[in-house]
Amino acid sequence: MTATAYECDVAVIGGGIAGLAAAWRAHTAGLRVCLLEASRAVGGKMRSERRDGYLIEFGPNSFMASATALWELIDGVGLADQVLAATKPADRYVYRDRKARKLPSDLASLVTGDYLSVAGKLRLFSEFAVLGNAGAEDSVWDFAERRIGVEAARYLIAPFVSGVYAGDPQQLGARDAFPQMWQWEHDSGSLMIGALLAHADADQPGDPAAARAAGMYSLRDGLGSLPKALASALPADALRLQAPVTAVQRQGQLWRVQPHPTLAQLQQPVLARQVIIATPAHTAAELLQPLAPNVAAQLGSVVQVRVAVVHIGGPDPAPAAPRGFGVLIPRGEGLRTLGVLLPSSMFPGRAPAGHWLHSAFLGGANDPEAVDLPDDALISLALRAQADAFALSGDRTLQQTFAAVVRWREAIPQYRVGHRAQMAAVSGELQVHCPGLTLAGSYLTGISMADAAAGGLRAGDRAVAALRPSPESA
Ligand SMILES: Cc1cc2nc3c(=O)[nH]c(=O)nc-3n(C[C@H](O)[C@H](O)[C@H](O)COP(=O)(O)OP(=O)(O)OC[C@H]3O[C@@H](n4cnc5c(N)ncnc54)[C@H](O)[C@@H]3O)c2cc1C
Repeated sequence: MTATAYECDVAVIGGGIAGLAAAWRAHTAGLRVCLLEASRAVGGKMRSERRDGYLIEFGPNSFMASATALWELIDGVGLADQVLAATKPADRYVYRDRKARKLPSDLASLVTGDYLSVAGKLRLFSEFAVLGNAGAEDSVWDFAERRIGVEAARYLIAPFVSGVYAGDPQQLGARDAFPQMWQWEHDSGSLMIGALLAHADADQPGDPAAARAAGMYSLRDGLGSLPKALASALPADALRLQAPVTAVQRQGQLWRVQPHPTLAQLQQPVLARQVIIATPAHTAAELLQPLAPNVAAQLGSVVQVRVAVVHIGGPDPAPAAPRGFGVLIPRGEGLRTLGVLLPSSMFPGRAPAGHWLHSAFLGGANDPEAVDLPDDALISLALRAQADAFALSGDRTLQQTFAAVVRWREAIPQYRVGHRAQMAAVSGELQVHCPGLTLAGSYLTGISMADAAAGGLRAGDRAVAALRPSPESA
């Protein structure tokens, strides 16, 4: 028995934020859309769940005020009333010599804080006098060490790289992983001056991000609410869950998208005029292997690191739980954890009243084996990091009664030296060899949710433009 094909204008493969943004854009432009998602639920890394009164985030926890594409989606699907701004002060810490030290948040704390030695701070402050510009091939570590000195590179930049990429600063490209910093140096000869200038002309009129106060944000029921709302905004017959796509083939003027027959059901193939592949890079590589082997080889070479997220929680009657955003833990400080976020201190409703919830991150580029540790071992490592960093012993000991472990095998793509140029070339080559196929996802133009969403919206725009050429481009 063969199922008749479902015909549409745009097929989107992958229901993470990139694929959903693409599908939403095409749908709101009046196109007939079909979104195929491999798992039982949309959202990909953006998934939130309530367990025992705790709200746990499987992946991302928060986004910045500058996340233009997320604001567009949040406003577009009517979630603006669910937006939560982080509780202030959202202090950030770095762990050094068995103590969490507050990172500077203003000029006074930049000078007086104990996050660096006096010599380290003097070297940091002399950054604007360092001559020379980074080449496109400089690693993050080379760049940071040259501009701000080895101590600040070790205690400020390397843990930041861990926090964002779970990556190795020696492997990531300065221009690839942190293009804004690279550009600041390039344009003004200094990170500090570049940052100040960028801050001065940050707000663009008409940008939905400009209306939001600086800081971190989330949603009342977790970030997973956004993908759910985007999926609900699509027509019911446009969404296929448990439909892992195994092949994309040319069929005349159309593309045939074939999902794997799961649950003993024959999944209906989809015929589309445009296809947006919004899966992680390695899946995109498998789908493109027969169509564009060189593109597939390049996508297959993207390195993805593994990460375990360990949520721990418990009662806090005193209260004694630390407050703030979280602590980053540099390598070589005797702890295996990369960092600990403090969600119950950041946003209301993350833990039952009178309880705390913290989330530790382990694994990453330099310790992938950690992800394979049993749950108990991961929970012990998380508890130790929390206790050491915030001196939680004696009468400040926190009782832990809740735990949940999430493992991501392909958590975060690594923007190694040359990554962005390679991905731009790959996207261009695909357009030439397979017109009508477009890529989207966090491995292309930035690893944040906002970058992935922006890439999805652009892919949706491209599909709309291809199917409905404007009079000027006709
Ligand atoms: C632990 C962790 C913490 C993070 N924290 C933050 C944060 O605080 N802030 C932030 O901005 N970003 C954060 N990120 C990054 C952010 O989560 C990602 O940038 C974003 O969610 C990626 O979206 P995506 O749509 O590109 O990919 P994904 O979310 O990976 O979605 C891809 C989708 O494709 C589906 N798929 C795969 N194969 C197939 C197939 N063959 N057929 C159909 N569907 C398929 C998958 O099931 C998945 O749903 C974090 C990531 C992780 C892992």
